[in-house]
Amino acid sequence: MKRLTTLLLLLPLVSVSCKKSDDSSQEKSSDSTAVNVEAPAPGTIPPTVPTPPPTPPATPDPNASVDPQPPAPVSTLPALALSFGSSIKYLSGFEDADILKYNRAVAVVKKVVGTEAFRSAVLNHTYGGVKTFVQNNGLTNAQIYQTILDAAERLTPARNNTMDVGVKLYFENSSIVGYTSTSISYINVNTKFFDTYTVNSVAGNLFHEWLHKVGYGHDSAATARRPYSVPYAVGYMIGKIGQKFL
Ligand SMILES: [Zn+2]
Repeated sequence: MKRLTTLLLLLPLVSVSCKKSDDSSQEKSSDSTAVNVEAPAPGTIPPTVPTPPPTPPATPDPNASVDPQPPAPVSTLPALALSFGSSIKYLSGFEDADILKYNRAVAVVKKVVGTEAFRSAVLNHTYGGVKTFVQNNGLTNAQIYQTILDAAERLTPARNNTMDVGVKLYFENSSIVGYTSTSISYINVNTKFFDTYTVNSVAGNLFHEWLHKVGYGHDSAATARRPYSVPYAVGYMIGKIGQKFL
């Protein structure tokens, strides 16, 4: 059967070749269509040349002529946003379920950092009608965004694009969600909140505390400007955008 098919497919090609040599006047326009309409010579038995199967037309896109898809926007997201990594050490207080929850929060952080929405939120953050952060260490929004991607903690200052931090869980019946200080490379997280927080809120808290490691501070008192500091504002962005990655 396979051999027969091959022979049948060859026949039209032979016809084309013959036609070209026999009828030079049509050489320029010869094609497979011309072969098919060629009348057999009188008195001869028409060869059983099968019509080649027509090439199936491409499936038309029903939206193509009505609602053409716009070209995909060219992403300007820095490569460092997509490669942002983490090295989190679970130092104490963790049970298996806590590790699973924290791992999920870390994953949310990385997904959020790799979004245009996060980049846009940092670059366009305003305080008092100006694109800036409170206690910004003298940096512009764009420079702050770059320090986040660089991820050079004060205690481990290599710009390794990796969030390096340890975590200790503790319990205290207070209003403190977590805390850290500039002299230690870990953060303390109160299980009173960690246990009830959604994963995106844990992610936001982790980022808040980690931004202290990168060198950003805020008022210790709940001042009106404190939410516009880098740890509070950017931590909030992580939590908010992170909702869609739960
Ligand atoms: Zn803080």
